[in-house]
Amino acid sequence: MVNFIQQEIENDLKAGKYSEGIHTRFPPEPNGYLHIGHAKAICLDFGLANYNHGLCNLRFDDTNPTKEDVEYVDSIQEDIKWLGFDWGDRKFFASDYFDKFYEFAVELIKRGLAYVDDLSAEEIKNLRGTLTEPGKESPFRNRSIEENLNLFERMKNGEFSDGEKVLRAKIDMASPNINMRDPVIYRISRTHHHHTGDKWLIYPMYDFAHPLEDAIENITHSVCTLEFEDHRPFYDWLLDSLGFDVNSRPRQIEFARLDLTNTITSKRKLRQLVEENHVRGWDDPRMPTLSGMRRRGFTPAAIKNFCNEIGVAKSNSVVDVAMLEHCVREDLNNTANRIMAVLNPLKVVLTNVEEGTTEYLTAENHPTLGGSRYVPFTREIFIERDDFMEDAPKKFFRLKPGGEVRLKHAYIIKCEEVIKDSDGNILELHCTIDKTSKSGGETANRKIKGTIHWVSAEHAIKAEVRLYDYLLTTDEKGNLPEDFIAAINPKSLIVIENALVEPSVKFTAAGTHYQFLRLGYFVVDYDTTPEKLVFNRVVGLKDSWAKVSGVSAK
Ligand code: ATP
Ligand code: MG
Repeated sequence: MVNFIQQEIENDLKAGKYSEGIHTRFPPEPNGYLHIGHAKAICLDFGLANYNHGLCNLRFDDTNPTKEDVEYVDSIQEDIKWLGFDWGDRKFFASDYFDKFYEFAVELIKRGLAYVDDLSAEEIKNLRGTLTEPGKESPFRNRSIEENLNLFERMKNGEFSDGEKVLRAKIDMASPNINMRDPVIYRISRTHHHHTGDKWLIYPMYDFAHPLEDAIENITHSVCTLEFEDHRPFYDWLLDSLGFDVNSRPRQIEFARLDLTNTITSKRKLRQLVEENHVRGWDDPRMPTLSGMRRRGFTPAAIKNFCNEIGVAKSNSVVDVAMLEHCVREDLNNTANRIMAVLNPLKVVLTNVEEGTTEYLTAENHPTLGGSRYVPFTREIFIERDDFMEDAPKKFFRLKPGGEVRLKHAYIIKCEEVIKDSDGNILELHCTIDKTSKSGGETANRKIKGTIHWVSAEHAIKAEVRLYDYLLTTDEKGNLPEDFIAAINPKSLIVIENALVEPSVKFTAAGTHYQFLRLGYFVVDYDTTPEKLVFNRVVGLKDSWAKVSGVSAK
Protein backbone atom coordinates (compact mmCIF):
# COMPACT_ATOMS: atom_id res chain seq x y z
CA MET A 1 0.00 0.00 0.00
CA VAL A 2 1.68 3.15 -1.22
CA ASN A 3 0.03 6.41 -0.31
CA PHE A 4 0.91 9.49 1.65
CA ILE A 5 -0.93 8.29 4.76
CA GLN A 6 1.06 5.06 4.84
CA GLN A 7 4.14 7.25 4.46
CA GLU A 8 3.10 9.26 7.51
CA ILE A 9 2.52 6.07 9.47
CA GLU A 10 5.99 4.84 8.59
CA ASN A 11 7.50 8.18 9.61
CA ASP A 12 5.70 7.96 12.94
CA LEU A 13 6.94 4.42 13.54
CA LYS A 14 10.50 5.46 12.64
CA ALA A 15 10.26 8.33 15.09
CA GLY A 16 9.42 5.85 17.82
CA LYS A 17 5.75 6.76 18.10
CA TYR A 18 2.90 4.27 18.46
CA SER A 19 4.99 1.40 19.69
CA GLU A 20 1.79 -0.47 20.58
CA GLY A 21 0.92 -0.86 16.90
CA ILE A 22 -1.28 0.88 14.37
CA HIS A 23 -4.95 1.29 15.16
CA THR A 24 -7.49 2.96 12.87
CA ARG A 25 -11.26 3.27 12.89
CA PHE A 26 -14.16 3.69 10.50
CA PRO A 27 -16.59 6.14 12.16
CA PRO A 28 -19.93 6.34 10.33
CA GLU A 29 -22.73 8.44 11.67
CA PRO A 30 -25.81 6.18 11.58
CA ASN A 31 -27.96 8.69 9.74
CA GLY A 32 -28.14 7.01 6.35
CA TYR A 33 -26.88 4.09 4.29
CA LEU A 34 -23.25 3.83 3.25
CA HIS A 35 -22.35 4.93 -0.26
CA ILE A 36 -19.43 4.59 -2.65
CA GLY A 37 -17.56 7.43 -0.88
CA HIS A 38 -17.74 5.50 2.37
CA ALA A 39 -16.39 2.46 0.54
CA LYS A 40 -13.27 4.46 -0.18
CA ALA A 41 -12.93 5.42 3.49
CA ILE A 42 -13.57 1.81 4.59
CA CYS A 43 -10.94 0.45 2.20
CA LEU A 44 -8.50 3.03 3.50
CA ASP A 45 -9.21 2.64 7.23
CA PHE A 46 -9.29 -1.17 7.22
CA GLY A 47 -6.63 -1.34 4.52
CA LEU A 48 -4.10 0.72 6.50
CA ALA A 49 -4.72 -1.39 9.60
CA ASN A 50 -4.35 -4.67 7.70
CA TYR A 51 -1.25 -3.53 5.88
CA ASN A 52 0.42 -2.54 9.14
CA HIS A 53 -0.75 -5.65 11.01
CA GLY A 54 -2.87 -3.40 13.16
CA LEU A 55 -6.53 -3.13 14.05
CA CYS A 56 -9.48 -1.16 12.74
CA ASN A 57 -12.54 -0.44 14.87
CA LEU A 58 -16.06 0.09 13.70
CA ARG A 59 -17.40 3.05 15.62
CA PHE A 60 -20.83 4.53 15.29
CA ASP A 61 -20.45 8.24 15.68
CA ASP A 62 -23.87 8.70 17.16
CA THR A 63 -23.58 11.99 19.00
CA ASN A 64 -26.41 13.71 17.13
CA PRO A 65 -29.57 11.77 17.93
CA THR A 66 -32.03 13.84 15.88
CA LYS A 67 -31.22 12.18 12.56
CA GLU A 68 -29.95 8.80 13.66
CA ASP A 69 -31.66 5.45 13.68
CA VAL A 70 -30.98 1.75 14.39
CA GLU A 71 -32.05 0.86 10.85
CA TYR A 72 -28.84 2.55 9.73
CA VAL A 73 -26.75 0.87 12.41
CA ASP A 74 -27.82 -2.51 11.02
CA SER A 75 -27.39 -1.65 7.35
CA ILE A 76 -23.92 -0.20 7.93
CA GLN A 77 -22.69 -3.44 9.50
CA GLU A 78 -24.18 -5.54 6.75
CA ASP A 79 -22.53 -3.38 4.09
CA ILE A 80 -19.06 -3.44 5.65
CA LYS A 81 -19.22 -7.22 6.06
CA TRP A 82 -20.35 -7.57 2.47
CA LEU A 83 -17.32 -5.57 1.33
CA GLY A 84 -15.26 -8.13 3.19
CA PHE A 85 -13.92 -6.25 6.20
CA ASP A 86 -13.97 -7.43 9.77
CA TRP A 87 -13.93 -5.31 12.91
CA GLY A 88 -13.66 -8.39 15.14
CA ASP A 89 -15.11 -7.66 18.57
CA ARG A 90 -14.45 -3.94 18.23
CA LYS A 91 -17.85 -2.48 17.46
CA PHE A 92 -18.28 0.68 19.49
CA PHE A 93 -20.78 3.45 19.90
CA ALA A 94 -19.67 6.99 20.67
CA SER A 95 -22.76 7.18 22.86
CA ASP A 96 -21.24 4.52 25.14
CA TYR A 97 -18.67 7.17 26.04
CA PHE A 98 -21.15 9.88 27.04
CA ASP A 99 -20.16 9.53 30.72
CA LYS A 100 -16.49 9.80 29.81
CA PHE A 101 -17.10 12.82 27.59
CA TYR A 102 -18.85 14.47 30.48
CA GLU A 103 -15.88 13.76 32.75
CA PHE A 104 -13.50 15.20 30.19
CA ALA A 105 -15.62 18.33 29.91
CA VAL A 106 -15.54 18.71 33.69
CA GLU A 107 -11.78 18.27 33.55
CA LEU A 108 -11.50 21.05 30.96
CA ILE A 109 -13.54 23.34 33.21
CA LYS A 110 -11.28 22.49 36.15
CA ARG A 111 -8.27 23.40 34.06
CA GLY A 112 -9.89 26.74 33.26
CA LEU A 113 -10.29 25.74 29.62
CA ALA A 114 -14.08 25.66 29.28
CA TYR A 115 -16.98 27.84 30.39
CA VAL A 116 -20.75 27.90 30.39
CA ASP A 117 -22.11 30.59 28.11
CA ASP A 118 -25.62 32.06 28.36
CA LEU A 119 -25.53 33.66 24.91
CA SER A 120 -27.97 32.33 22.34
CA ALA A 121 -26.75 30.49 19.26
CA GLU A 122 -27.51 33.64 17.26
CA GLU A 123 -25.48 35.87 19.60
CA ILE A 124 -22.56 33.48 19.61
CA LYS A 125 -22.57 33.52 15.83
CA ASN A 126 -22.66 37.30 15.73
CA LEU A 127 -19.65 37.61 18.04
CA ARG A 128 -17.62 34.98 16.24
CA GLY A 129 -16.07 37.46 13.79
CA THR A 130 -15.13 36.70 10.20
CA LEU A 131 -12.14 35.44 8.28
CA THR A 132 -10.70 38.95 8.35
CA GLU A 133 -11.99 40.20 11.70
CA PRO A 134 -11.34 38.68 15.11
CA GLY A 135 -14.25 37.55 17.26
CA LYS A 136 -15.41 39.21 20.47
CA GLU A 137 -15.35 37.58 23.87
CA SER A 138 -18.62 36.57 25.50
CA PRO A 139 -19.52 38.50 28.69
CA PHE A 140 -19.76 35.07 30.40
CA ARG A 141 -16.27 34.00 29.40
CA ASN A 142 -14.64 34.77 32.71
CA ARG A 143 -16.93 32.92 35.07
CA SER A 144 -15.14 31.21 37.92
CA ILE A 145 -14.31 27.51 37.71
CA GLU A 146 -16.74 26.82 40.57
CA GLU A 147 -19.58 28.62 38.85
CA ASN A 148 -18.89 26.81 35.58
CA LEU A 149 -18.81 23.42 37.32
CA ASN A 150 -22.07 24.22 39.03
CA LEU A 151 -23.82 25.44 35.88
CA PHE A 152 -22.58 22.56 33.75
CA GLU A 153 -23.85 20.03 36.24
CA ARG A 154 -27.22 21.77 36.27
CA MET A 155 -27.27 21.70 32.45
CA LYS A 156 -26.87 17.94 32.73
CA ASN A 157 -29.59 17.71 35.37
CA GLY A 158 -32.12 19.43 33.17
CA GLU A 159 -32.44 22.68 35.07
CA PHE A 160 -32.29 24.76 31.87
CA SER A 161 -34.27 24.65 28.69
CA ASP A 162 -32.90 23.59 25.32
CA GLY A 163 -30.54 26.21 23.93
CA GLU A 164 -30.52 28.27 27.11
CA LYS A 165 -26.86 27.58 27.83
CA VAL A 166 -23.91 25.89 26.15
CA LEU A 167 -20.48 24.80 27.23
CA ARG A 168 -17.64 26.34 25.24
CA ALA A 169 -13.93 25.65 25.04
CA LYS A 170 -11.91 28.67 26.17
CA ILE A 171 -9.23 29.14 23.54
CA ASP A 172 -8.77 32.33 21.58
CA MET A 173 -11.45 34.62 20.11
CA ALA A 174 -8.77 36.27 17.95
CA SER A 175 -7.47 33.06 16.41
CA PRO A 176 -7.15 33.22 12.61
CA ASN A 177 -8.85 29.81 12.63
CA ILE A 178 -12.54 30.33 13.39
CA ASN A 179 -12.81 26.80 14.77
CA MET A 180 -10.52 27.90 17.60
CA ARG A 181 -12.71 30.85 18.65
CA ASP A 182 -14.19 29.21 21.72
CA PRO A 183 -16.15 26.47 19.93
CA VAL A 184 -19.30 25.14 21.55
CA ILE A 185 -18.61 21.66 22.94
CA TYR A 186 -21.89 20.77 24.67
CA ARG A 187 -25.48 21.76 23.99
CA ILE A 188 -28.76 21.12 25.78
CA SER A 189 -31.15 19.02 23.72
CA ARG A 190 -34.04 16.99 25.08
CA THR A 191 -33.86 14.39 22.37
CA HIS A 192 -34.42 10.67 22.69
CA HIS A 193 -31.29 8.78 21.67
CA HIS A 194 -31.58 5.44 19.83
CA HIS A 195 -28.83 3.96 21.99
CA THR A 196 -28.93 5.77 25.36
CA GLY A 197 -32.65 6.48 25.51
CA ASP A 198 -33.63 9.50 27.60
CA LYS A 199 -30.61 9.39 29.90
CA TRP A 200 -28.97 12.50 28.47
CA LEU A 201 -30.33 16.02 28.13
CA ILE A 202 -27.02 17.41 26.96
CA TYR A 203 -25.07 16.16 23.97
CA PRO A 204 -21.42 16.75 23.00
CA MET A 205 -20.61 18.43 19.68
CA TYR A 206 -18.91 16.34 17.02
CA ASP A 207 -15.61 18.24 17.16
CA PHE A 208 -15.36 17.64 20.88
CA ALA A 209 -16.49 14.03 20.84
CA HIS A 210 -14.48 12.75 17.90
CA PRO A 211 -10.93 13.24 19.21
CA LEU A 212 -12.00 11.81 22.56
CA GLU A 213 -13.57 8.77 20.91
CA ASP A 214 -10.28 8.21 19.10
CA ALA A 215 -8.25 8.67 22.29
CA ILE A 216 -10.50 6.39 24.35
CA GLU A 217 -10.11 3.62 21.77
CA ASN A 218 -6.32 4.12 21.51
CA ILE A 219 -6.60 5.00 17.85
CA THR A 220 -3.23 6.00 16.39
CA HIS A 221 -4.24 7.42 13.01
CA SER A 222 -7.62 9.06 12.62
CA VAL A 223 -8.15 9.32 8.89
CA CYS A 224 -10.88 11.66 7.67
CA THR A 225 -11.88 13.79 4.70
CA LEU A 226 -10.34 17.14 3.82
CA GLU A 227 -13.15 19.33 5.16
CA PHE A 228 -11.83 18.53 8.64
CA GLU A 229 -8.40 19.97 7.99
CA ASP A 230 -9.36 23.27 9.67
CA HIS A 231 -10.67 21.32 12.63
CA ARG A 232 -7.37 19.59 13.28
CA PRO A 233 -5.96 22.41 15.46
CA PHE A 234 -8.90 21.90 17.81
CA TYR A 235 -8.43 18.13 17.71
CA ASP A 236 -4.83 18.60 18.85
CA TRP A 237 -5.66 21.36 21.31
CA LEU A 238 -8.23 19.22 23.05
CA LEU A 239 -6.05 16.14 23.46
CA ASP A 240 -3.05 18.24 24.51
CA SER A 241 -5.17 20.19 26.99
CA LEU A 242 -6.39 16.97 28.58
CA GLY A 243 -2.83 15.70 28.93
CA PHE A 244 -2.77 12.89 26.36
CA ASP A 245 0.83 11.94 25.52
CA VAL A 246 1.79 13.27 22.12
CA ASN A 247 3.74 10.08 21.32
CA SER A 248 0.78 7.79 21.71
CA ARG A 249 -2.30 9.92 21.26
CA PRO A 250 -4.18 9.79 17.97
CA ARG A 251 -3.36 12.12 15.12
CA GLN A 252 -5.77 13.22 12.45
CA ILE A 253 -4.81 12.89 8.79
CA GLU A 254 -7.05 14.18 6.02
CA PHE A 255 -7.50 12.84 2.49
CA ALA A 256 -9.60 13.91 -0.49
CA ARG A 257 -13.16 12.67 -0.45
CA LEU A 258 -14.36 10.65 -3.39
CA ASP A 259 -16.57 12.49 -5.82
CA LEU A 260 -17.85 10.65 -8.87
CA THR A 261 -19.34 12.05 -12.05
CA ASN A 262 -23.11 11.46 -12.39
CA THR A 263 -23.26 10.40 -8.77
CA ILE A 264 -24.63 11.83 -5.52
CA THR A 265 -22.37 11.22 -2.56
CA SER A 266 -24.30 13.17 0.03
CA LYS A 267 -26.29 11.18 2.56
CA ARG A 268 -28.74 14.04 2.94
CA LYS A 269 -29.56 14.06 -0.76
CA LEU A 270 -29.72 10.29 -0.97
CA ARG A 271 -32.14 10.31 1.93
CA GLN A 272 -34.28 12.86 0.12
CA LEU A 273 -34.46 10.58 -2.94
CA VAL A 274 -35.68 7.74 -0.73
CA GLU A 275 -38.08 9.76 1.42
CA GLU A 276 -39.71 11.45 -1.55
CA ASN A 277 -40.01 8.09 -3.36
CA HIS A 278 -37.95 9.07 -6.37
CA VAL A 279 -36.34 5.64 -6.07
CA ARG A 280 -37.61 2.31 -4.74
CA GLY A 281 -35.56 2.52 -1.54
CA TRP A 282 -32.00 2.80 -0.26
CA ASP A 283 -31.16 -0.38 -2.16
CA ASP A 284 -32.61 0.75 -5.46
CA PRO A 285 -30.07 -0.46 -8.05
CA ARG A 286 -29.68 3.11 -9.32
CA MET A 287 -28.46 4.33 -5.93
CA PRO A 288 -24.72 4.70 -5.26
CA THR A 289 -25.27 3.16 -1.84
CA LEU A 290 -23.47 -0.09 -1.08
CA SER A 291 -26.84 -1.83 -0.78
CA GLY A 292 -27.96 -0.35 -4.10
CA MET A 293 -24.74 -1.36 -5.83
CA ARG A 294 -25.00 -4.85 -4.30
CA ARG A 295 -28.50 -5.23 -5.69
CA ARG A 296 -27.39 -3.82 -9.01
CA GLY A 297 -24.85 -6.62 -9.14
CA PHE A 298 -21.63 -4.72 -8.45
CA THR A 299 -19.24 -7.01 -6.61
CA PRO A 300 -17.13 -6.32 -3.50
CA ALA A 301 -14.02 -7.23 -5.48
CA ALA A 302 -14.85 -4.64 -8.14
CA ILE A 303 -15.58 -1.89 -5.62
CA LYS A 304 -12.40 -2.60 -3.65
CA ASN A 305 -10.38 -2.72 -6.81
CA PHE A 306 -11.82 0.63 -7.84
CA CYS A 307 -10.95 2.14 -4.45
CA ASN A 308 -7.37 0.92 -4.82
CA GLU A 309 -7.08 2.16 -8.38
CA ILE A 310 -8.19 5.70 -7.61
CA GLY A 311 -5.61 6.04 -4.87
CA VAL A 312 -5.53 8.50 -2.00
CA ALA A 313 -4.93 12.15 -2.71
CA LYS A 314 -4.53 15.35 -0.75
CA SER A 315 -6.67 17.49 -3.01
CA ASN A 316 -10.22 16.99 -4.19
CA SER A 317 -11.00 15.85 -7.69
CA VAL A 318 -13.84 14.15 -9.48
CA VAL A 319 -13.44 10.57 -10.66
CA ASP A 320 -15.20 9.37 -13.81
CA VAL A 321 -17.94 6.90 -12.90
CA ALA A 322 -16.97 4.99 -16.05
CA MET A 323 -13.90 3.84 -14.14
CA LEU A 324 -16.06 2.17 -11.49
CA GLU A 325 -18.10 0.52 -14.22
CA HIS A 326 -14.88 -0.61 -15.84
CA CYS A 327 -13.82 -2.33 -12.61
CA VAL A 328 -17.20 -4.06 -12.36
CA ARG A 329 -17.01 -5.20 -15.97
CA GLU A 330 -13.49 -6.49 -15.52
CA ASP A 331 -14.42 -8.54 -12.46
CA LEU A 332 -17.56 -9.99 -14.03
CA ASN A 333 -15.72 -10.73 -17.25
CA ASN A 334 -13.47 -13.01 -15.23
CA THR A 335 -16.19 -14.70 -13.21
CA ALA A 336 -19.63 -14.58 -14.84
CA ASN A 337 -20.88 -17.50 -16.94
CA ARG A 338 -22.09 -16.68 -20.42
CA ILE A 339 -25.64 -17.50 -21.36
CA MET A 340 -28.09 -16.48 -24.06
CA ALA A 341 -31.11 -14.28 -23.53
CA VAL A 342 -33.29 -12.33 -25.93
CA LEU A 343 -34.65 -9.02 -24.72
CA ASN A 344 -36.78 -8.06 -27.71
CA PRO A 345 -37.81 -11.34 -29.34
CA LEU A 346 -38.50 -12.01 -33.00
CA LYS A 347 -39.73 -15.50 -33.88
CA VAL A 348 -37.81 -17.57 -36.39
CA VAL A 349 -39.16 -20.82 -37.84
CA LEU A 350 -36.44 -23.12 -39.10
CA THR A 351 -38.33 -24.88 -41.83
CA ASN A 352 -35.91 -27.75 -42.38
CA VAL A 353 -35.80 -28.71 -38.70
CA GLU A 354 -38.28 -31.43 -37.84
CA GLU A 355 -41.23 -30.40 -35.70
CA GLY A 356 -41.33 -31.72 -32.13
CA THR A 357 -37.62 -32.55 -31.93
CA THR A 358 -35.07 -31.07 -29.54
CA GLU A 359 -31.36 -31.26 -30.14
CA TYR A 360 -29.11 -30.53 -27.18
CA LEU A 361 -26.05 -28.58 -28.22
CA THR A 362 -23.00 -28.12 -26.06
CA ALA A 363 -22.27 -24.52 -25.08
CA GLU A 364 -19.18 -23.26 -23.33
CA ASN A 365 -19.90 -21.39 -20.07
CA HIS A 366 -16.79 -19.23 -19.89
CA PRO A 367 -13.87 -18.56 -22.25
CA THR A 368 -11.20 -19.10 -19.61
CA LEU A 369 -12.90 -20.89 -16.72
CA GLY A 370 -14.45 -23.37 -19.12
CA GLY A 371 -17.37 -25.57 -18.15
CA SER A 372 -20.26 -26.31 -20.42
CA ARG A 373 -23.98 -26.91 -20.52
CA TYR A 374 -26.57 -28.16 -22.96
CA VAL A 375 -28.67 -25.67 -24.88
CA PRO A 376 -31.86 -26.97 -26.47
CA PHE A 377 -32.30 -26.28 -30.16
CA THR A 378 -35.74 -26.56 -31.79
CA ARG A 379 -37.63 -25.75 -34.97
CA GLU A 380 -38.89 -22.46 -33.50
CA ILE A 381 -36.47 -20.07 -31.93
CA PHE A 382 -36.35 -16.39 -30.99
CA ILE A 383 -33.66 -13.95 -32.00
CA GLU A 384 -33.21 -10.30 -31.11
CA ARG A 385 -35.48 -8.10 -33.22
CA ASP A 386 -32.53 -5.77 -33.85
CA ASP A 387 -30.54 -8.62 -35.36
CA PHE A 388 -32.78 -8.65 -38.40
CA MET A 389 -33.08 -5.83 -40.91
CA GLU A 390 -35.16 -5.85 -44.02
CA ASP A 391 -33.43 -3.07 -45.89
CA ALA A 392 -30.03 -3.60 -44.45
CA PRO A 393 -27.06 -1.41 -45.35
CA LYS A 394 -24.03 -3.12 -46.82
CA LYS A 395 -22.15 -3.29 -43.54
CA PHE A 396 -25.00 -4.99 -41.67
CA PHE A 397 -23.59 -8.44 -40.92
CA ARG A 398 -26.52 -9.89 -39.05
CA LEU A 399 -29.65 -11.36 -40.62
CA LYS A 400 -31.29 -9.91 -43.73
CA PRO A 401 -33.55 -11.34 -46.43
CA GLY A 402 -31.56 -13.96 -48.33
CA GLY A 403 -28.61 -13.47 -45.99
CA GLU A 404 -26.86 -15.85 -43.65
CA VAL A 405 -25.79 -15.57 -40.04
CA ARG A 406 -24.39 -18.00 -37.50
CA LEU A 407 -26.43 -18.91 -34.43
CA LYS A 408 -24.05 -19.04 -31.47
CA HIS A 409 -23.29 -22.62 -30.40
CA ALA A 410 -25.51 -23.89 -33.25
CA TYR A 411 -25.96 -23.68 -37.02
CA ILE A 412 -25.64 -21.19 -39.83
CA ILE A 413 -29.10 -20.09 -40.90
CA LYS A 414 -30.37 -18.43 -44.07
CA CYS A 415 -33.35 -16.11 -44.17
CA GLU A 416 -35.75 -17.42 -46.81
CA GLU A 417 -38.94 -15.53 -46.12
CA VAL A 418 -40.25 -12.60 -44.07
CA ILE A 419 -43.82 -13.11 -42.80
CA LYS A 420 -45.83 -9.94 -42.15
CA ASP A 421 -49.28 -9.03 -40.95
CA SER A 422 -51.69 -6.95 -43.07
CA ASP A 423 -50.15 -3.73 -41.67
CA GLY A 424 -46.72 -4.73 -42.80
CA ASN A 425 -45.35 -5.55 -39.33
CA ILE A 426 -42.88 -8.40 -39.28
CA LEU A 427 -44.41 -11.41 -37.49
CA GLU A 428 -41.75 -14.03 -38.02
CA LEU A 429 -38.95 -15.16 -40.27
CA HIS A 430 -38.72 -18.44 -42.09
CA CYS A 431 -35.18 -19.66 -42.32
CA THR A 432 -33.30 -22.84 -43.15
CA ILE A 433 -30.29 -24.24 -41.37
CA ASP A 434 -27.11 -25.50 -42.95
CA LYS A 435 -27.21 -28.93 -41.34
CA THR A 436 -23.50 -29.59 -41.43
CA SER A 437 -22.46 -26.22 -40.06
CA LYS A 438 -22.54 -26.91 -36.33
CA SER A 439 -19.33 -27.38 -34.39
CA GLY A 440 -17.43 -30.38 -35.75
CA GLY A 441 -19.51 -30.50 -38.94
CA GLU A 442 -18.28 -30.39 -42.51
CA THR A 443 -19.19 -26.74 -43.10
CA ALA A 444 -18.55 -25.59 -39.53
CA ASN A 445 -15.75 -23.30 -40.60
CA ARG A 446 -17.56 -21.69 -43.46
CA LYS A 447 -16.84 -17.96 -43.39
CA ILE A 448 -19.84 -16.05 -42.06
CA LYS A 449 -19.43 -12.50 -40.80
CA GLY A 450 -22.12 -12.34 -38.10
CA THR A 451 -22.91 -14.45 -35.07
CA ILE A 452 -26.08 -13.83 -33.09
CA HIS A 453 -27.64 -15.22 -29.94
CA TRP A 454 -31.01 -16.99 -29.74
CA VAL A 455 -33.21 -19.10 -27.50
CA SER A 456 -35.48 -22.06 -28.17
CA ALA A 457 -39.13 -20.96 -28.29
CA GLU A 458 -40.27 -24.12 -26.59
CA HIS A 459 -37.68 -24.14 -23.80
CA ALA A 460 -36.93 -20.50 -23.07
CA ILE A 461 -38.00 -19.04 -19.74
CA LYS A 462 -39.76 -15.72 -19.48
CA ALA A 463 -38.02 -13.12 -17.36
CA GLU A 464 -38.39 -9.52 -16.35
CA VAL A 465 -35.26 -7.57 -17.15
CA ARG A 466 -34.57 -4.18 -15.64
CA LEU A 467 -32.26 -1.89 -17.53
CA TYR A 468 -30.72 1.05 -15.73
CA ASP A 469 -29.32 4.33 -16.82
CA TYR A 470 -27.91 7.11 -14.63
CA LEU A 471 -30.45 8.30 -12.12
CA LEU A 472 -29.68 11.93 -12.85
CA THR A 473 -29.04 13.80 -16.03
CA THR A 474 -25.83 15.81 -15.90
CA ASP A 475 -23.86 18.21 -18.00
CA GLU A 476 -21.40 16.75 -20.48
CA LYS A 477 -18.72 16.63 -17.80
CA GLY A 478 -20.92 14.52 -15.55
CA ASN A 479 -21.56 17.33 -13.06
CA LEU A 480 -24.88 17.34 -11.26
CA PRO A 481 -27.07 20.44 -11.34
CA GLU A 482 -27.97 22.29 -8.16
CA ASP A 483 -31.61 21.21 -8.36
CA PHE A 484 -30.94 17.49 -8.51
CA ILE A 485 -34.58 16.49 -8.08
CA ALA A 486 -35.46 18.27 -11.33
CA ALA A 487 -32.60 16.42 -13.01
CA ILE A 488 -33.99 12.94 -12.37
CA ASN A 489 -33.68 10.94 -15.56
CA PRO A 490 -37.15 9.65 -16.55
CA LYS A 491 -35.48 6.81 -18.43
CA SER A 492 -33.24 5.68 -15.60
CA LEU A 493 -35.25 2.46 -15.28
CA ILE A 494 -36.64 0.57 -18.24
CA VAL A 495 -38.49 -2.64 -17.47
CA ILE A 496 -38.68 -5.36 -20.10
CA GLU A 497 -41.51 -7.62 -19.03
CA ASN A 498 -41.16 -10.45 -21.50
CA ALA A 499 -37.54 -11.18 -22.12
CA LEU A 500 -36.64 -14.81 -22.85
CA VAL A 501 -33.73 -16.59 -21.22
CA GLU A 502 -32.26 -19.99 -21.92
CA PRO A 503 -33.54 -22.69 -19.54
CA SER A 504 -30.20 -23.31 -17.77
CA VAL A 505 -30.96 -20.38 -15.44
CA LYS A 506 -34.18 -21.90 -14.15
CA PHE A 507 -33.11 -22.59 -10.58
CA THR A 508 -30.59 -19.84 -10.18
CA ALA A 509 -30.32 -17.90 -6.92
CA ALA A 510 -30.65 -14.16 -6.41
CA GLY A 511 -27.27 -12.52 -6.68
CA THR A 512 -25.97 -14.87 -9.42
CA HIS A 513 -24.19 -13.08 -12.25
CA TYR A 514 -24.30 -13.85 -15.95
CA GLN A 515 -23.08 -12.34 -19.10
CA PHE A 516 -25.96 -12.35 -21.55
CA LEU A 517 -24.02 -12.80 -24.75
CA ARG A 518 -23.70 -9.53 -26.66
CA LEU A 519 -25.96 -7.68 -24.19
CA GLY A 520 -24.00 -7.09 -21.03
CA TYR A 521 -23.72 -8.36 -17.48
CA PHE A 522 -26.84 -9.21 -15.53
CA VAL A 523 -27.62 -10.37 -12.02
CA VAL A 524 -30.63 -12.21 -10.63
CA ASP A 525 -32.61 -9.71 -8.53
CA TYR A 526 -33.98 -10.39 -5.04
CA ASP A 527 -37.51 -9.93 -6.44
CA THR A 528 -37.18 -13.28 -8.18
CA THR A 529 -39.79 -15.84 -7.11
CA PRO A 530 -40.37 -19.45 -8.22
CA GLU A 531 -42.95 -18.02 -10.64
CA LYS A 532 -40.96 -15.11 -11.97
CA LEU A 533 -37.32 -14.51 -12.78
CA VAL A 534 -36.10 -10.93 -12.48
CA PHE A 535 -32.74 -9.70 -13.75
CA ASN A 536 -30.95 -6.39 -13.32
CA ARG A 537 -28.52 -5.22 -15.91
CA VAL A 538 -25.30 -4.56 -14.03
CA VAL A 539 -23.34 -2.91 -16.83
CA GLY A 540 -23.28 -3.09 -20.59
CA LEU A 541 -20.39 -4.63 -22.48
CA LYS A 542 -19.06 -1.42 -23.95
CA ASP A 543 -16.22 -0.07 -21.90
CA SER A 544 -15.95 3.66 -22.39
CA TRP A 545 -13.35 3.93 -19.63
CA ALA A 546 -11.03 1.38 -21.21
CA LYS A 547 -11.29 3.37 -24.41
CA VAL A 548 -10.39 6.75 -22.94
CA SER A 549 -7.78 5.52 -20.52
CA GLY A 550 -6.14 3.04 -22.84
CA VAL A 551 -6.47 0.10 -20.42
CA SER A 552 -7.25 -3.05 -22.29
CA ALA A 553 -10.84 -4.21 -22.41
CA LYS A 554 -10.65 -7.93 -21.97
P1 ATP B 1 -22.60 13.50 6.99
O1 ATP B 1 -22.88 14.63 6.07
O2 ATP B 1 -23.83 12.82 7.44
O3 ATP B 1 -21.57 13.76 8.04
P2 ATP B 1 -20.57 11.84 5.87
O4 ATP B 1 -20.57 11.47 4.43
O5 ATP B 1 -19.48 12.63 6.44
O6 ATP B 1 -21.98 12.46 6.01
P3 ATP B 1 -20.08 9.88 7.92
O7 ATP B 1 -20.97 8.78 8.35
O8 ATP B 1 -19.73 10.92 8.89
O9 ATP B 1 -20.79 10.52 6.66
O10 ATP B 1 -18.78 9.27 7.25
C1 ATP B 1 -18.03 8.23 7.78
C2 ATP B 1 -16.64 8.27 7.24
O11 ATP B 1 -16.67 8.16 5.82
C3 ATP B 1 -15.95 9.57 7.56
O12 ATP B 1 -14.63 9.28 7.97
C4 ATP B 1 -15.97 10.32 6.28
O13 ATP B 1 -14.89 11.18 6.18
C5 ATP B 1 -15.93 9.22 5.24
N1 ATP B 1 -16.56 9.65 4.00
C6 ATP B 1 -17.80 10.13 3.84
N2 ATP B 1 -18.03 10.49 2.57
C7 ATP B 1 -16.90 10.23 1.88
C8 ATP B 1 -16.48 10.38 0.51
N3 ATP B 1 -17.30 10.87 -0.41
N4 ATP B 1 -15.24 9.99 0.19
C9 ATP B 1 -14.42 9.49 1.11
N5 ATP B 1 -14.72 9.32 2.40
C10 ATP B 1 -15.95 9.68 2.80
MG1 MG C 1 -19.50 13.12 8.76
